[in-house]
Amino acid sequence: MSPPDSRPISRLRELGWVAAVVTVLVAWVLATHALRRIDNLIYDYALKGWPAPSRDDIVIVAIDAASLSQLGRWPWSRTTHAALLDQLTEQGARAVGLDLLLPEPDPATGADDHLAAALAANKRTVLALAPEVQDRNVITVALPIPSLRQAAARLGHVDTELDADAVLRSAFLRAGMDGKRWSALPLAMLEVATLQPEPLPGARPPPATAVAGRWRRDHQIRIPFSAPGSIRQVSYADVLNDARVAASLRDRWVLVGPTAAGLAAAFATPVSGENRPLSGVEFDANVLAALLNRAWIVPLPPLVGAAVSLLVALLPLLVYPRLSPQLSLLPYVVSIAATLIAAIALLQVAHLWAAPAASLLGLVIGYPLWSWRRLQLAGAERRWQMEHARVTLNSIGEAVITINVAGTILYLNPTAERLSGWDLKAACGQHYREIFAPDDSAAEAKMRDALFHCQAHGDPRRRSDQITLLNRAGQPYAVHFTANPVHDARAEIAGFVLALRDITVMLSLTERMTHQATHDHLTELPNRVLTTDRVTQALASARRSGELVAVLFLDLDGFKRINDSLGHTTGDALLQMVAKRLVSAGRAGDTVGRWGGDEFVIVLEGLQQESVISGVARKVVDHFKDPIQLPEHELFVTPSIGIAVFPKDGADADLLIRNADIAMYRVKHQGGNAYRFYSERIPTWTSEHITTEKDMRSALQNGGFELFYQPQVNLTNGRIVGVEALMRWRHPQRGLLLPDQFIPIAEESGLIHELGLRAFELACAQGRRWQEQHLEPVHLGVNVSARQLQREGLVLAFEEILHQSGVAPASITVEITESAVMHDVARIADMLRGFKALGVQVAIDDFGTGYSSLTHIKRFPIDEVKIDQSFVRDISTDTNDAAIVQAVIAMAHSMDMRVVAEGVETRSQFEFLAARRCDELQGYYFSPAITAADFTVMLLRQQAHLQSTAEVFDQWPNMVRDGKLGELELPPPSQRH
Ligand code: C2E
Ligand code: MG
Repeated sequence: MSPPDSRPISRLRELGWVAAVVTVLVAWVLATHALRRIDNLIYDYALKGWPAPSRDDIVIVAIDAASLSQLGRWPWSRTTHAALLDQLTEQGARAVGLDLLLPEPDPATGADDHLAAALAANKRTVLALAPEVQDRNVITVALPIPSLRQAAARLGHVDTELDADAVLRSAFLRAGMDGKRWSALPLAMLEVATLQPEPLPGARPPPATAVAGRWRRDHQIRIPFSAPGSIRQVSYADVLNDARVAASLRDRWVLVGPTAAGLAAAFATPVSGENRPLSGVEFDANVLAALLNRAWIVPLPPLVGAAVSLLVALLPLLVYPRLSPQLSLLPYVVSIAATLIAAIALLQVAHLWAAPAASLLGLVIGYPLWSWRRLQLAGAERRWQMEHARVTLNSIGEAVITINVAGTILYLNPTAERLSGWDLKAACGQHYREIFAPDDSAAEAKMRDALFHCQAHGDPRRRSDQITLLNRAGQPYAVHFTANPVHDARAEIAGFVLALRDITVMLSLTERMTHQATHDHLTELPNRVLTTDRVTQALASARRSGELVAVLFLDLDGFKRINDSLGHTTGDALLQMVAKRLVSAGRAGDTVGRWGGDEFVIVLEGLQQESVISGVARKVVDHFKDPIQLPEHELFVTPSIGIAVFPKDGADADLLIRNADIAMYRVKHQGGNAYRFYSERIPTWTSEHITTEKDMRSALQNGGFELFYQPQVNLTNGRIVGVEALMRWRHPQRGLLLPDQFIPIAEESGLIHELGLRAFELACAQGRRWQEQHLEPVHLGVNVSARQLQREGLVLAFEEILHQSGVAPASITVEITESAVMHDVARIADMLRGFKALGVQVAIDDFGTGYSSLTHIKRFPIDEVKIDQSFVRDISTDTNDAAIVQAVIAMAHSMDMRVVAEGVETRSQFEFLAARRCDELQGYYFSPAITAADFTVMLLRQQAHLQSTAEVFDQWPNMVRDGKLGELELPPPSQRH
């Protein structure tokens, strides 16, 4: 359903068919003259109000009852008429109209001659003629007999036509048949005096109406009749007998005709009505007066009349839609009144007759039609609005409830039904508190307050209150609600609309998110953030109560070993079990939180004396005496617990936890599986350890780590064919730090993962730079620690870095220590295959220390074996080591692996290895690890000087001395190690 457009233009379109109906109706009325009676009524009424000026110069010589009694029975001899005419001639009448038909000769001998003589003498007499309907509707013209006709000044017709209501209103100034036309008698009288109006007025019939043998009327004018008796009449006999009467006819227009009842035709006219009909001669007198006064009435030409009628009927329709329904009756009434007044005014002022009945009918029909249409439109609009409101209310997620001022429910939308568990039917008529039952008195008060507010201020309560309500099944749900007052037509508050937004899901989501943000997902224990917060809270209340707070920092002994050897799934399961044990060991109010990795924090509050603390700590240690049962393993783990007590060991949470951590390190250092209180005397190395970890974190963010590069030299030509990237840390206070000063801490803290990725990133970026400069070496070794291999996704992370750097993967060698390869063989084999799939090479580092045999590592896809420097060191003195090295070289070659010897420091070591056909050498004999810039210079220099093998080997020991490149230096001085 489309919304009704309330703009006037569309209303006008709606009006189209109303206008069409009106037009058809008006046209029908005009065509059929169906409302002629009404038009006539209006015409007659309008005419009555018109005081037609009577004229003194017109006199009717009436053949009245008095004359009949004096002059005898009718018809009189024409000699009498001749006498009258002579009298009029004598008196000098202006013109004489003899309204008597004289078609037969007078039987009295000579009478016609007398009259003819009188007519001839008078010269101003008009004789009457009229159409006569004979048998079978044949029309003949009753003309005066020829002698009279010739003697008369003119002939004039006395034909009249009554309207449908038998009232005479019009005169036809011309009429006739078969090509003959006669003026009406009064007009003929004017013609005698040459006073006829030019041009001749009156409505003309359509030319097509001229038919042979048919009387045809033309120049129709409507006559403004003067009141009966207002035209002077004298008795025919008096004119003959009374000289004074005859004298009064001097210079007058004289009409002679019968007025006596029974003798004269009697016409009803608008002014005379039925009671006092007008005789023919009186009618002629009125026509004459109208012509003399030039006060005839002409109907509007038919087309103009139709156009005006239509216009009048349709114009108000244009106005209706623009007015409000209350006002629309006004133009309707005004239009009707105006139409009537206009018709009357037009008649009286302009002597034009515009028949108004068709227009009036148009108005009378048009208005109700339009009103009906308007009602239809309004109904449709209202239905649409209701539909719109209903769909809106059904669609919105908010529960909407309408109540009256007494709190009785009038309406619920579907959301409200769903929330409350009540359907609309059942809820209507009940008090809102029954359906939306507040959970507690506070909720009830909030709802009441909101309604009071609306009632008191009459405006909406926008503040949204949160309350809990109970649904029909008694289950609680939380909502935000607002209240709006509803005003009635008198602007008084008639009720309220309550809007409830269900926030139950949102609340539980927020709860869950808060839980997730503050709890460790593995053990469900409070995480670092919440634990610290709990300590802070405990301290705040302890400050008030003067009680003690103890922080127990717990780390599992040997967890790393378990995790490394049994995999992190087992490690995770172990941590979960440990968490449960810790919770069960503590009291109900204690906080047990997971600090990270295998570290936990227990917070004990409300303590009176320290002895309680050691009791709890002992209990915790005892809890670990029994093995932990996992699905596949039975494991023994022991805790190291450090304890710091508020207020003596620290005033804030951070310090307390830190000191508990230091105490824990001390326990660890002494073998673990015990607890210990913090004391100032605890050696500082533990705290240094913690500080290093912190510094390392910031160094990772600030780019404090850098790679140094140590060449690997090919034994056949003395050239650099490989390089190992070794991590260095430029510490802001402690200077350049070597791996053994931070790698173990990084491994312990887990930072090794980040550090390892950083090393790989830096190495790949440098490798790419050398490739762009077309510098060798061909392979670049990057160390990967055993701990790194534990982490899922390492291969993916390396792939991403390789891709980002754009280095050729084949030039990168991943160095993994032999001992790392020995744990979790299947997983590591998978991982190494993953590396190979990336296109990088794999080297076994520190080979020989892990006591594995080469055949054992055969199952791994290994490209290079690096003999540990401990074997190289005593190679020339220890025959055992010499034999091992020799065997490793031989077996590696048999398996197509490259052999690199590490820690070559002396010429004799170099020569021993050369003799055993070792592939590459790495060690201080050639160069220590140096900066990337220095190493680049070294490569450039090698490219520039292509010397013989012997010369190259001789030069190597001089290349870098005391950490500096030898005399062939190219780059600016830089730091070397
Ligand atoms: P590594 O992989 O066995 O590296 C060789 C170590 O031997 C390097 O010590 C190197 O400077 C040293 N070295 C080289 N030639 C000689 C020599 O002729 N005599 C003696 N005595 N030593 C020599 P550095 O740089 O201190 O690294 C120590 C260890 O730290 C490395 O042993 C490696 O296991 C680890 N490391 C270094 N960088 C990284 C790294 O980026 N990631 C990981 N995970 N470990 C690294
Ligand atoms: Mg290495």
